[in-house]
Amino acid sequence: MKVVRFHAPGDVRFEDAPEPEAGPGEVKIRVRNCSTCGTDVKISKFGHHHIHPPRVMGHEIAGEIVQVGEGVDGWSNGDRVQVIAAIPCGKCAECERGRMTVCPNQESMGYHFEGGFAQFMVVPEKVLAVDGLNRIPDGVSFAEASVAEPLACALNAQNLARVGEGDDVVVIGSGPIGCLHVRLARARGAARVFLVELNRERLDMAANLVLPDAAICAAEVDPVEEILKLTDGRGADVIITAAASGKAQEQAIEMAARQGRISFFGGLPKDNPTITCDSNLVHYRELMIIGANGSSPAHNAEALNLVATGAVPVNDLITHRLPLESAIDAFGIVARGEAIKVTIEP
Ligand SMILES: [Zn+2]
Ligand SMILES: [Zn+2]
Repeated sequence: MKVVRFHAPGDVRFEDAPEPEAGPGEVKIRVRNCSTCGTDVKISKFGHHHIHPPRVMGHEIAGEIVQVGEGVDGWSNGDRVQVIAAIPCGKCAECERGRMTVCPNQESMGYHFEGGFAQFMVVPEKVLAVDGLNRIPDGVSFAEASVAEPLACALNAQNLARVGEGDDVVVIGSGPIGCLHVRLARARGAARVFLVELNRERLDMAANLVLPDAAICAAEVDPVEEILKLTDGRGADVIITAAASGKAQEQAIEMAARQGRISFFGGLPKDNPTITCDSNLVHYRELMIIGANGSSPAHNAEALNLVATGAVPVNDLITHRLPLESAIDAFGIVARGEAIKVTIEP
């Protein structure tokens, strides 16, 4: 079969690999869609300390079952499935408390296990053990189902930041994750959703699709001033940073309303992870700064449901559909910000 495999930073190859077989406790799928994201670009350029090459990349996975391993119940050939990306152990103190997104033993598809940029893939026993294989609801395409994983991550962040009825929400960063955040915030009853982005072209492309109440280009105006203007000086109830930018995180704190919640959704570069925070703003305004680390199996199931019910449409966010041999080109498209979501159809 054909795969896209990471060998070293800057060395990702479209090549042949032996077709895998489902062992006991495993399920083999024919991958139909594996979507790309910024993480794939990062891995292809810099590698990752959890990846021991060669490794098939890809973690936003949907396909159909073609082989059910010994001892696996409840699944049959032909079942349409979506696979979680982050695999919690299900046994540690955090998992026992239901905090699966911060499981210290977390492993990932495309990192510890062979990923979805392949014609076939084995779903590991560990995924099945934590209910990480989801049936794709009728009416949801494989491409849409592959976007359930990033939507699940957005859902985790908005649960933690308690996005709800009547909130003014700011999303900083208009990539695919930013677009999903805008849509999800609306589905949860946000009063207004504002989108902030540095790059004018990317902002316009995203705003045309997700129609925020205001689209603010941070290269042209001061986004903090703009948000204060739009909210009569109050600031926003929730600010979500979907950009790897320390400046965006600092601005997020400055534009928060009293008791505002700030979600640091996007991480910062490893070599530049510190920001300056006016601690007195946090103190006197009772701000809450919250992290977000991936998603749990339950978030993935809920995300599929949000797509199925139409609460969060994702089909129009998939702007590019490419064959497996174009996956490496796809990373370039993602890196240059020319697309919203690029999905690979192996
Ligand atoms: Zn991703
Ligand atoms: Zn755990």
